[in-house]
Amino acid sequence: ALSDKLSRLVKEMRGQARITEANVQDMLREVRMALLEADVALPVVRDFVARVKEKALGQEVVGSLNPGQALVGIVNRELVATMGEGVSDLNLAAQPPVVILMAGLQGSGKTTTTAKLARHLGEKRKKKVLTVSGDVYRPAAIEQLKTVTAQAGAEWFPSTPDQKPLDIARAALDHARRQYVDVLIVDTAGRLAVDEAMMREIRELHAALKPTETLFVVDAMQGQDAVNTAKAFKEALPLTGIVLTKMDGDSRGGAALSVRQVTGAPIKFAGVSEKIDGLEVFDAERHAGRILGMGDIVALVEQVQAGVDMQAAQKLAAKVKSGEGFDLNDFLMQIQQMKKMGGLSELMDKLPAQMQAKAGQVDMDKAERDIRRKEGIICSMTPLERRKPDLIKATRKRRIAAGAGVHVQEVNRLLNEFEQMQGMMKKMKGGGLMKMMKRMGS
Ligand code: GDP
Ligand code: MG
Repeated sequence: ALSDKLSRLVKEMRGQARITEANVQDMLREVRMALLEADVALPVVRDFVARVKEKALGQEVVGSLNPGQALVGIVNRELVATMGEGVSDLNLAAQPPVVILMAGLQGSGKTTTTAKLARHLGEKRKKKVLTVSGDVYRPAAIEQLKTVTAQAGAEWFPSTPDQKPLDIARAALDHARRQYVDVLIVDTAGRLAVDEAMMREIRELHAALKPTETLFVVDAMQGQDAVNTAKAFKEALPLTGIVLTKMDGDSRGGAALSVRQVTGAPIKFAGVSEKIDGLEVFDAERHAGRILGMGDIVALVEQVQAGVDMQAAQKLAAKVKSGEGFDLNDFLMQIQQMKKMGGLSELMDKLPAQMQAKAGQVDMDKAERDIRRKEGIICSMTPLERRKPDLIKATRKRRIAAGAGVHVQEVNRLLNEFEQMQGMMKKMKGGGLMKMMKRMGS
């Protein structure tokens, strides 16, 4: 597979300290191929790769990474930034009834998504939701919305194929006002391809309804075609968000990047099944991993760059070596380092399956709480106390406990644990810790 090739290139670049014009070319070519394979549209790929190149050139390679790994990191960050920028839940900050207008081609998933959103808003945000169908061209479409709205536990406003979409929309809005509906979701007709009549109709609906959200629904399996559709809808309507449906299919989801880039509108939700609960808030990070198909390298790069501060680790190691002693400040730093790396459960996720099974016997939530409590206790000490815990007498222990909101026994327990750890550190004489930090980054 392509990502294997990319991984091999990454390995070949070991030992180079900087991303340069020479060593970046092959990598970028593979990145371009990976994006095209994920069905990102060609012009979007060109743009994206150029941006990455500009960001990458001349960059120093951090820690134990090689230029290839660093570049994958840059690509990933750029993907997340592009797709995740300005992402938020639905905007409901308007005088109710807040109107959501659904737009998109026929078969993209508008009706299904209307019901999914009705359920989402009803359950998660406790809203009274009304749906209405303006799809008067296909007799079954109105019935379909009625059925799925019932599944969503929301209300449905009747319409018939002999009505005009604009009249239906006005009547529904009027009803919503009188019945104190919080959110009115207006499902619309789509065509198989973009055509002027459809665009005119939805523009009229938009003008009459003044929706707070105008969502463009697009099928992730549409791949390259998604760009042209998105362009046409963006020109016709001020889109406020995108819903990417059928993400449960086997596409790598490159349409997300294309559509985001072309419309400028944030991707708000992803449809992940035909069922009423198959809707997820869009997660740019997870999606970047899917497009790139290089989860392991990305995870490694992020760990090294965000987590392990090599300089601090070196200082710490030198300190232990010089016999100056490992104190509570160092202990606190370790805890904070671990938090930066995503906490215990994140770390556990990266362990091999066998070790995970063992770790599974530990109550992770409890362990996390325990660590947070320890952090709280150390933070309640003075810097001097952190350096010389022996100085902490009973009255101070009580004050520290009160400051951290724990029992005095917990302060004692922490001090005992720390003493044991200090003993261990002395035995390790620094080399072990340094090795451990290095291992995390390679
Ligand atoms: P509309 O023409 O835009 O209203 O599209 P529909 O809501 O009728 O959906 C068209 C088809 O796509 C239906 O068979 C849906 O069940 C299916 N569908 C919609 N969203 C999803 C999704 O997220 N995943 C899957 N697997 N199917 C979906
Ligand atoms: Mg429909």
